[in-house]
Amino acid sequence: MSRLRQLPERHFVNRIGWLRAAVLGANDGILSTASLIVGVAAASATQNTVLIAGVAGLVAGAMSMAAGEYVSVSSQSDSEQADLARERKELSESPGFELDELAEIYVKRGVDRDLARQVARQLMAKDALGAHAHDELGLSEITTARPVQAALTSALSFSLGAAMPVLIVVVSPSSALVPVVAGASLGFLAVLGAIGARVGGAHILRGTARVTFWGALAMALTAGIGKLLGTVV
Ligand SMILES: [Zn+2]
Repeated sequence: MSRLRQLPERHFVNRIGWLRAAVLGANDGILSTASLIVGVAAASATQNTVLIAGVAGLVAGAMSMAAGEYVSVSSQSDSEQADLARERKELSESPGFELDELAEIYVKRGVDRDLARQVARQLMAKDALGAHAHDELGLSEITTARPVQAALTSALSFSLGAAMPVLIVVVSPSSALVPVVAGASLGFLAVLGAIGARVGGAHILRGTARVTFWGALAMALTAGIGKLLGTVV
């Protein structure tokens, strides 16, 4: 298991996963807070009210991201722990059956039956639970869930993203809140989309276009609803 951690490409994959989550969190923060701000501003609220709405949206969104991530990663962790506990029990109660099971996995992957049994026996002599966790359950260091870390990462990245449109409200002239916040936020989304595409090895232009399209759609929708409620109410 410690050798696995030394492989450089594992580290690379790990960092990409973390960075991807951070980019997605910031993306959520910009998109939902900018839409909220644009909606409230379109209903002809004062700059101060818009700012309060933006800050409230930031805090609410960050908490909801943290809670959601914590719950989802915890339940993933619970099921991983349950799988490991069952595997540990099976290994101590019927080691012969477990050896056959592991060897069969390698046979299915194309290894000769004799060699597969040999590999399974040697792996199990060193770390039986580790071998079964990795090759039977598909659990590795990377998938080992860390709920608190995940909750903090998404809350922090969401807050950083949400802070951008909130700051724009502060510096924007009050007469042009909607176009300035919407324009700047689409710019932030485009930059993040490009970074996200770059990190994930995807096509940069396509990634940018996708994220700005959804951003523009969300802001147009909330602006329309804000305008409607602002005139009706
Ligand atoms: Zn097993």
